[in-house]
Amino acid sequence: MEIFSIGSGSSGNSVFVGSGNTHFIIDAGLSGKRIEAGLNKNDLTARDLSGILVTHEHNDHIAGLGVMARRYGLPIYATRGTIDAIKNIPTLGKIDDSLFVEIEKDREFTLGDLSIKAISVSHDAADPVGYVFSDQRKKAAVVTDLGKYDDYIIENIRGMNVLFLEANHDKNMLEVGPYPYMLKMRILSDSGHLSNEATGTLLSSVIGPETEHIFLGHLSAENNFPELAYETVFQEITLSDTPYRGSDFPITVAKRQDCSLKVAV
Ligand SMILES: [Zn+2]
Ligand SMILES: [Zn+2]
Repeated sequence: MEIFSIGSGSSGNSVFVGSGNTHFIIDAGLSGKRIEAGLNKNDLTARDLSGILVTHEHNDHIAGLGVMARRYGLPIYATRGTIDAIKNIPTLGKIDDSLFVEIEKDREFTLGDLSIKAISVSHDAADPVGYVFSDQRKKAAVVTDLGKYDDYIIENIRGMNVLFLEANHDKNMLEVGPYPYMLKMRILSDSGHLSNEATGTLLSSVIGPETEHIFLGHLSAENNFPELAYETVFQEITLSDTPYRGSDFPITVAKRQDCSLKVAV
């Protein structure tokens, strides 16, 4: 299985996951041009894609969805609530109804070489999900945009070889930062985003001997720094009750404006 981020952050998200001849992007929150450039950089083109898996309808996840779906006739996989919400966003332009494929949460489906399951996340969108992938040999989870995690999330992303999680903000930076009060409350709420610290704690609950690579993504531009996200998560893992230390796994912070490292497991 291969995973890389084409761009990740509160200004736009798209993550590639592929195995064999099956290739998906999770979200298309960057311009079509940037998504294509990111694929090209990794010796792929949009014509190699099997479809787009959408997590939710926020602009940083769908800004390039209309362009990519229309240009390449790519199927859009999403939950019913997300599909309805997308159809109500006029800026995306007309997307042919036949391109939408409704998926159900917690029900694994197989497309080519990948088995895919959408899992529920707590976030202020219509029907948001994260995705868990398996290709018979390896497993990966891509889960961003969640205000809290619980046993359901932990159970679903345990046993992964690759974990791509959000480390959205540093709580102190957010609290003293320039955001308006209401926006701060939204981000800190149970349906907002995970802090670096919370992500570190979540990771400590799900890492195991099978863990091969950790990605941190969806960093806030105003309320986080890549070094701070890395360091906080590293320390949380090291100081946790687990036998693991932050140094036991490669941790990659996905870049906002460029592709990340490509990880093959
Ligand atoms: Zn969101
Ligand atoms: Zn987002």
